[in-house]
Amino acid sequence: MPGKSKENLGFTMARITYTLASIALALVTGVSQIFAYDLVVFFVVDQLRSEAVSFKPPNGVFFPNTYLPYSCTLTAPGHATLLSGRLPREHGIIANSWFEGDKLIMAGEDTSTSPIGGKIGFSPHQFIGDHLSLYWKRRYPQSYFISISHKERSAVFSGGPAADLAIWASAAGFASSSYYPKADKKIVEILNKASAQTTGNKARSPDQKTLAAAKFLAKYFSLGKKEEPDFLAVSLSELDIIAHKHGYEHRKTQEHLQKLPKALQDFESYMRKTLKIHNILFVLTADHGSTTIEKEAIVYSATPKRISPQELYAPLGQYRIPWKTIPPHIYSEEEALALALAESPYVYRIYLPQRRQFVRPPHLPTAMLPPDSELENLLQACYFPSRSPNILVVLWPYIFLQDKGSDVVAGHGGPFPSDRRIPFLLWGDGFSHSITIEKETSALAIAKTVAHLVGVTYPHPEHLAPLLPEKRGKIQRD
Ligand SMILES: [Zn+2]
Repeated sequence: MPGKSKENLGFTMARITYTLASIALALVTGVSQIFAYDLVVFFVVDQLRSEAVSFKPPNGVFFPNTYLPYSCTLTAPGHATLLSGRLPREHGIIANSWFEGDKLIMAGEDTSTSPIGGKIGFSPHQFIGDHLSLYWKRRYPQSYFISISHKERSAVFSGGPAADLAIWASAAGFASSSYYPKADKKIVEILNKASAQTTGNKARSPDQKTLAAAKFLAKYFSLGKKEEPDFLAVSLSELDIIAHKHGYEHRKTQEHLQKLPKALQDFESYMRKTLKIHNILFVLTADHGSTTIEKEAIVYSATPKRISPQELYAPLGQYRIPWKTIPPHIYSEEEALALALAESPYVYRIYLPQRRQFVRPPHLPTAMLPPDSELENLLQACYFPSRSPNILVVLWPYIFLQDKGSDVVAGHGGPFPSDRRIPFLLWGDGFSHSITIEKETSALAIAKTVAHLVGVTYPHPEHLAPLLPEKRGKIQRD
């Protein structure tokens, strides 16, 4: 504030604090106060750790310390949370699958909808309550809200209840369901044709297919060409597949990560140059991070170990009670079972969410995990009584569950900071320069922030403001 003495500023400080804070944030982030987007492209990279983002667009904002505030760091809960700004205990998507009675249910499965191109119908019908897509379509009824992914759960939960179309890969190629107003056989067929084309004789990888199909959808629906802004969610699953198979630090995982920026740049260039879409907001985030083995384990002098669910449940051999599991968690109301499992050398904490209590915590807290009070919040955030296991198990850090014969060598799905930390990056038109904001932020604010930038008022979560300043000028399309 040149030309103003400290005292002068002091007098008016209270009145102008808010304004100053807004202007300061606008200057810091470089986001324009007046901007009307034609298209938002929302990339979710499955299992992308924040520190693995090497992509620095020339104009944008990067929040590298964005955390999911819950313990069930899995694909379905992640996608359901990112664009709803609500916790798994609120939207009900607490895992990739769960038991209801004796039936194991996939998070996205929907027997009331007919599959188009696949064998099983999927939809977000098990998702409960508000999602950005509902507010988007209410504000912009002429727009398209479209979602595509290799994984069905990623596609349906990014799309949410009001998506016009969600597309995923089935064994037979891309598929959708009768849940979606814009889904039909024809589109699935052309998508499969468009994405199957190869360069040379090498078959396309899952990400290459997803990106090719997403380009096709943008062209087919003329996204970004209407008065109202369109939304395209593109969830890339390949990193998760590779990292589970080889581990995060393996050469193949690193090679894939190195190719990612170019894939995103190619996509952006196709949208801008080939399809001539102007005014695009790009977002990049992840559904969860992951626990690395080598680097971090050394820091904490922990010994990584892979165990099978059978090894984990060995202390329960004497119990004949029929119990169901979503490893490591258990459906059983038998307290004796929880007590016995607490004896396992692989178990850090057992938590009974109904009673809101830890079972005889047998170990001292570890620096690798938050204190029990915070751990309890993370576990409760995933507790949905009719779907959740009754016994929640927190394994010691670097204990990885691995089914016999499976090649999973790394993992996620726990309350560890590395599982919960994700990148949140915005770039494109409307940003004047590039900046990284190190401050810790909640992943719950992502939906609200994106909504805000396109003039949609999204109310969740109530306690958080959008991460970027309010648009004060006239939004062009108002
Ligand atoms: Zn995974």
